[in-house]
Amino acid sequence: MNEVANVKRETADVVVVGGGPAGIVAAIAAGRQGARVVLIERYGFVGGMSTAAMVYPWMTFHTEQGEQVIRGIAQEIVDRLQARGGSPGHLRDTVGFVHSVTPYDPAVYQVVAAEMLKEAGVRLLLHSFVDGVATVDDRVEAVRVTNKSGQLEIQANVFVDASGDADVAYLAGAAIAKGREGDSQSQPMTMKFRMRGVDLGRVKQYMQEHPEDFYEKTPFDELDTIPLTGVSGFYSHWKRAAVPIQRDQVLFFTGPAEDEVLINCTRVQGLDATNAVDLTEAEQEGRKQVLMIAEFLRNDVPGFERASISAVAPQIGIRESRRIVGRYALTQEDVVAGRKFEDVVARSGYPIDIHDPSGQGVTAAFIEGDGAYDIPYRSLLSQNISNLLAAGRCISTTHEAHATTRLTPSCMATGEAAGTAAALAVKLKLPPAKLPVSLLQAELRQNGAAI
Ligand SMILES: Cc1cc2nc3c(=O)[nH]c(=O)nc-3n(C[C@H](O)[C@H](O)[C@H](O)COP(=O)(O)OP(=O)(O)OC[C@H]3O[C@@H](n4cnc5c(N)ncnc54)[C@H](O)[C@@H]3O)c2cc1C
Repeated sequence: MNEVANVKRETADVVVVGGGPAGIVAAIAAGRQGARVVLIERYGFVGGMSTAAMVYPWMTFHTEQGEQVIRGIAQEIVDRLQARGGSPGHLRDTVGFVHSVTPYDPAVYQVVAAEMLKEAGVRLLLHSFVDGVATVDDRVEAVRVTNKSGQLEIQANVFVDASGDADVAYLAGAAIAKGREGDSQSQPMTMKFRMRGVDLGRVKQYMQEHPEDFYEKTPFDELDTIPLTGVSGFYSHWKRAAVPIQRDQVLFFTGPAEDEVLINCTRVQGLDATNAVDLTEAEQEGRKQVLMIAEFLRNDVPGFERASISAVAPQIGIRESRRIVGRYALTQEDVVAGRKFEDVVARSGYPIDIHDPSGQGVTAAFIEGDGAYDIPYRSLLSQNISNLLAAGRCISTTHEAHATTRLTPSCMATGEAAGTAAALAVKLKLPPAKLPVSLLQAELRQNGAAI
């Protein structure tokens, strides 16, 4: 790291970089263990993709069979949102892809998450970008933060990389991977937007009259008795309109307002989310596609005749970029087999869901056995930096397994594991890799994790 005059310095036990779902939960978990924690976030609010890219709803806390496998702080967030009228809790997924989805109001979530961080004693630093890392031998000594006050170096014993893009690992020179094997291509980016004035009664009626035009697992027999949470289909409308975007169906989710939907249809392929030139192009292309899709929906899709755009995400949604190379990379085979690991620190029931990096479709693979797979502690541990843990989207997996661990509830679960491990490592004066896993697991279970 270059020397800069007048750099301020501070110390912490644990530094968490990135205030997305993984970072929020990691920081709360570490703070509750009594560690002095700093959480660094580049935006003026927390939430990561949930708020900055308007990703919605969270999916999923359950297996296909309906067992809840993600609890702990993630569930506490949902409970607190519900108590504030910011979420209806877990609802059946009317797309039919998973058992449950969890809608939430992003404005309430930003406040609830900040309150929980404060209660856990976390020092939250917003509008602060980590752009440098100082290392000595195989350790991160400090991260450099640039913000309106200038530059600040924060030293700590353990660092949690929850930046989504593995920025800390990258800047530290740790082993990293990107995209799929062979060509490093990542899943497409998507610019999310909301529309209001949607007649959801009309949408539902059309679905019941034309089941062949929707995803085959749509629970048509339940549609009259449960709220419509999401829709995947309108295949014929999409095909007929020939919208010049590489996909084959319309996908949207309902809420948070009664006549509102969140549309997940734009698709920007072939660009690298860790390259500023590519990101600039992606942002502009995504916003152009939003206008195209809104026009298509208004003109061609029953129920959207009077709808208008109510919000466009502040930034394009990034499904995949860099991830750490850890002590174990979770694979598609592990996920599909519902594999169990002795060093399990989180579980998930979300199937593999790969939006094609270059083609039109989505490749899915469902979990066998009891419907859940384990995420081992080793997938959170950097292979070659001894005091660095990853959480969320940038843990160690293959491209295929990343397509399930990247989902928000799973990110919260790995966040809780990483934050708890970081604080325990500080308490016991051990490198995270030397932490007895049984102790970490006992602590996670004690705090409600379903492992
Ligand atoms: C288009 C799209 C659709 C999706 N659909 C769903 C869905 O329906 N349901 C679901 O549950 N999940 C969905 N996901 C997945 C989910 O939103 C993300 O994978 C998840 O938010 C990742 O959490 P994270 O905390 O690891 O990273 P992020 O959410 O990316 O958060 C990382 C945080 O770190 C901050 N940051 C990054 N670099 C730095 C830095 N150098 N310095 C300081 N701060 C930094 C960022 O600003 C951000 O706040 C979707 C994702 C996308 C993109």
